Amino acid sequence: MTDKDHPHNRKVYIETYGCQMNEYDSEIVREVLRRNNYTLTDSQEEAGVILLNTCAIRENAHQKVHARVRQLGPLRKRNEKLIVGILGCMAQNLKKELLEGDSGVDLIAGPDSYKALPVMIDRVHVTGEKEYKLTLSEYETYADVFPTNRHGINAWIAVMRGCDNYCTFCVVPMTRGRERSRDPFNVIEEVKQLSAQGFKQVTLLGQNVNSYRFKGFDFAKLITAVSRIDGIERIRFTSPHPKDFPESLLEVVATNPKACKHIHLPLQAGSSRVLDAMNRTYTREEFVALAQRMREMIPGLVLTTDVIVGFPTETEVEFEETLEVMHEVKFDAAFMFKYSERKGTLAQRNLGDTVPDEVKTDRMVQLVEQQRRISYERNQLHVGETFEVLVEGEAKHKGQLMGRNDGNKIVVFSDNGARPGDFIKVKVDEVTPNTLIGTALTTTEAIRKFAV
Ligand code: SAM
Ligand code: SF4
Repeated sequence: MTDKDHPHNRKVYIETYGCQMNEYDSEIVREVLRRNNYTLTDSQEEAGVILLNTCAIRENAHQKVHARVRQLGPLRKRNEKLIVGILGCMAQNLKKELLEGDSGVDLIAGPDSYKALPVMIDRVHVTGEKEYKLTLSEYETYADVFPTNRHGINAWIAVMRGCDNYCTFCVVPMTRGRERSRDPFNVIEEVKQLSAQGFKQVTLLGQNVNSYRFKGFDFAKLITAVSRIDGIERIRFTSPHPKDFPESLLEVVATNPKACKHIHLPLQAGSSRVLDAMNRTYTREEFVALAQRMREMIPGLVLTTDVIVGFPTETEVEFEETLEVMHEVKFDAAFMFKYSERKGTLAQRNLGDTVPDEVKTDRMVQLVEQQRRISYERNQLHVGETFEVLVEGEAKHKGQLMGRNDGNKIVVFSDNGARPGDFIKVKVDEVTPNTLIGTALTTTEAIRKFAV
């Protein structure tokens, strides 16, 4: 009998969709399963359990997972004992709908139910019945589950979970529940372990990361505390909300050398009327003033954003206001999305999906074109500048390496023998809208000497 045919094949294959929070959650799931004598495999053919950790933020995220489950059909036929599970936001959003009939799914678990997975999987093995657990918790932070097997240059670490903001377009408060922050001592403990494993950069994560607060200990204090940990050289955070940027936080980003000079500041829309309909709690003017204040206080700051086009009822004139604000603030980069109606949100219940898809596409094209020009202009300002780059690995083109500067911009340079995790100085010679291309000023000998 091969391992594959064994009734309790404990090899698990995990696939992750969506945001960095999901990547982090998949690490939590791996850790929970490892502690319960499951092993992880990179081969779906070998696996007894396939888990898809999913996203619900836009409709195409759902479609991808449905297509993937269909694709797993032949594998299920060949391996009748195979268990397929859907985890995360899509499970929480669509609930038992995902288990109905011959859906190809055996279990679903929401973002606060991962500790129950070993028992759920065992039960499906034993009973053959479908399993679900979707309770959202006001307390679960997985503080007692430090993922132990992380790879790469950057370690992601969730410091808070959930969101209380209820932006009217967004499904996150429904899929991830109420805001809750981790005890700072527990965060520090995890970062110390990461530093001991050799990580030089951490990114503090949360759906609304800067509203972090644990008994009066706020996000500015958390960054300061993390920066005191030896070995950690760079601290990033995402995603913040514009409403939670007190002066103390800007001060920390401005003055703490380990706090990266990059802020992702999601605008969503340029019209105050649309912002109000989105429940974003700031006006166009307040947002622009905040962005200006940030640029004044933090020299060299890289500002990026998220924008939605075609929010229900958005007029052409209101869309043009988004173009205007983007032009005025001159973000270094932007993630731009067509509005996607989400079940259970206030916008879906009260406003419908009123902007036709062709109009959304047309607005999107205009926005992307304008942003490409702005990103290129912003990058051109860097020509001749020298940056400290944290090397990540090989670039797309052979013979070149890539890394990121403090502002999170991708920097490409000729392979000089640097290794992932090295800090090297690179002088920028030319740029594209998305990349800085330069010459490494640090020799391999210097890097190694510095490292010793
Ligand atoms: N918490 C972050 C914030 O306040 O901006 C955002 C997190 S969300 C995972 C990432 C981005 O997805 C949002 O900033 C928004 O631009 C986009 N998004 C969320 N819901 C959307 C929807 N229904 N349609 C299109 N884009 C959406
Ligand atoms: Fe969604 Fe708004 Fe919360 Fe961000 S702040 S996760 S957009 S509800």
